[in-house]
Amino acid sequence: MTGGNAIRGRRVGAGPMGESERGESAPRKRVDYWCANGHCTRPSFALDAEVPEMWDCARCGLPAGQDEEEPPKPRRTEPYKSHLAYVKERRSDSDGMAILEEALTKLKARKGR
Ligand SMILES: [Zn+2]
Repeated sequence: MTGGNAIRGRRVGAGPMGESERGESAPRKRVDYWCANGHCTRPSFALDAEVPEMWDCARCGLPAGQDEEEPPKPRRTEPYKSHLAYVKERRSDSDGMAILEEALTKLKARKGR
């Protein structure tokens, strides 16, 4: 990008207000976005740009919102599950952990020999 043409994308008819910012670097505003893990992402936007309500966290990729107290919940890709499904899932999860641990123990025992 060559510096001279940076303003090319500007909307025509933005009004006389926009004309005052002809400086080398257009003034920008920074917006804080917070994700559920407490990371703060601060993208900057042109003053006349529309600030999105959500932003992807730069660190973990979770959706981040402008309210630090109430960051958006992580996206759920799975369809709706019943309570029973959640219970089953949790159970199979802990089973999975037990199996994993058992496997690790065997592995360690084998290595030790
Ligand atoms: Zn994050």
